[in-house]
Amino acid sequence: MKKIGSILSALALLVFLLLGSSAFAQKKTEQINIEPPFWWIGMQNTELQLMVHEKNIGETRVQLKAEGVKLERVSAVENPNYLFLDLSVSESAKAGFFEISFLKSGKVIHTVNYELKVRKQGSALRQGFTSADAIYLLMPDRFANGDPANDNIPGMLENADRKNPDGRHGGDLEGIIQHLDYFNELGVTALWLNPVLENNMPANSYHGYAITDFYQVDPRLGGNEKYLELVEKAHKKDLKIIMDMVFNHYGTAHKWTNDLPMSDWVNQWPEFTRSNYRGGTLTDPYAAAADQDKMLRGWFDVTMADLNQRNPFVANYLIQNSIWWIEYADLNGIRMDTYPYSFKEFMQEWMQRIRTEYPDFSVVGEVWLNSGPMVAYWHDQKHNFDGFNSHLNYVMDFPLKSAISRAFNEANGWSSGVNALYESLSMDFVYGDPNTIMNFLDNHDMDRIATTLGEDIKKQKMAATFLLTVRGVPQLYYGNELGTPGVEHKGHGQMRNDFAGGWPSDSKNAFTAEGRTADENELWSHFRTLLHYRKNTPALQNGRMTHYIPEDGVYVYFRYNEDQTIMIILNNNSEEKTIKTARFAENLKGFDHGTDLLHRTWFEQLDEISIPAMDSRVIELKQNK
Ligand code: CA
Repeated sequence: MKKIGSILSALALLVFLLLGSSAFAQKKTEQINIEPPFWWIGMQNTELQLMVHEKNIGETRVQLKAEGVKLERVSAVENPNYLFLDLSVSESAKAGFFEISFLKSGKVIHTVNYELKVRKQGSALRQGFTSADAIYLLMPDRFANGDPANDNIPGMLENADRKNPDGRHGGDLEGIIQHLDYFNELGVTALWLNPVLENNMPANSYHGYAITDFYQVDPRLGGNEKYLELVEKAHKKDLKIIMDMVFNHYGTAHKWTNDLPMSDWVNQWPEFTRSNYRGGTLTDPYAAAADQDKMLRGWFDVTMADLNQRNPFVANYLIQNSIWWIEYADLNGIRMDTYPYSFKEFMQEWMQRIRTEYPDFSVVGEVWLNSGPMVAYWHDQKHNFDGFNSHLNYVMDFPLKSAISRAFNEANGWSSGVNALYESLSMDFVYGDPNTIMNFLDNHDMDRIATTLGEDIKKQKMAATFLLTVRGVPQLYYGNELGTPGVEHKGHGQMRNDFAGGWPSDSKNAFTAEGRTADENELWSHFRTLLHYRKNTPALQNGRMTHYIPEDGVYVYFRYNEDQTIMIILNNNSEEKTIKTARFAENLKGFDHGTDLLHRTWFEQLDEISIPAMDSRVIELKQNK
């Protein structure tokens, strides 16, 4: 009987394969697009909104049956090709697939299997980046080509062309994986990659900011699986991963463009209208409403459709998307592009929902504004005049970046030279905890610091000393450590140079000391020394800071906690200076000798200290013998 039974079931299987499978499989495997593509059990927020995209799906009735999952609401919208399903997913829901059926005239016309996953242990309590980290920003297309096979993907709109500064150069996630030891060697602890999601645009999207699929890593970078591999391997090497996200806009080659769920999915104008890029209008007490409107609803570029986050479906889509990536890819942080360009009430809700799920997660917003009060408005610890709190836990210090660009080029005056640094920092009262501010010398959108500082190694070393010893979270841009030049006005591609040695055909390999020039090695070693020192020096990571009015172009500040005091001296003069230290008594009290990390110099006394021309000292103070 057993044998007959197995023959029968084999026959049944054969019949199924021959006859039933095509119709059955067709129904089962229909590529109905549902986003998010799967979700998790045990989130704080048990609500989940699914966006279903399929021809005329809006004309169907929806059924689902799954333990612990309830279909709360079905929303048909303007475009019948979309349907939004609001589910509640309780703790008692079972991991695995459940069926969602779509019926027309009482007949099931589509059946989709939707998956609920179990969360990784400790997922909610993941640690974001902090001021104890040092972040390395790199552009994946321009860092290293670890897999030339993915340079061109059939069906995608743009192929690699390394000769075109604004084209795709073939760099990818595999290239980053192959160089993880490089980051450890240099001493950075977190990687911020410019956006990795699909940018299937006809041209000029190697940078990643014109997303055409919010749930797919660009196949030319290696796809989703490769991204997971990168995160896992980076974590094993104690490197955190920060994902660059864009909520303000998407690339117009996105399938939404010709099939908008609703006409107000994007901000529409009678004719193309560009943003005025004036984030300051949003906090300006005298701003005209028309200017604020243009700032928020104007498009960032012709190829970047401006999302309307006041539409609750758009808002939910974006918020769930970011949570999906944190959970799916095990992220440590997010860098949010064009932060003030999205409606602030939405951004506030987003941060609240992220921090409800992940209380220790870190998000830094690109608040590209040129004065401290303007930036601080968007920082979560700021008590604002209008009561607004963004809940954004990190902002970028663009004003300090401007000061850095000036400081080492200018003659030292009342507010020029190193006084520019002093003055910029003196305005930190506008922030809450200044250690939640990100510092940088440059990034992918501006002249490279080497160019700004005339490719002068001494100046770049001073800037590096400042970056890695001042309060806040330091961020390097790839190539800072080599003195790589790059000018913005020649086109953005010029500041996003290929890292020498990242391509198999490169004649130079800057990943190794042998491949670097003497100047490059000098700067590289300077970064490395400071980064590794910072890694083991809590006073630099999150200690307090006291600085003194610069005198004669010499700027002195201290970073300290109960156990450690570090004295930093920047000599912004083309000659050696010797300073008397009596006026620093409040910080020097109890110390009478120390070691300078940068010159490996031992100071037997601290009454007078000399600093070479255009140079810095980082002195760890030692207590009286
Ligand atoms: Ca490649």
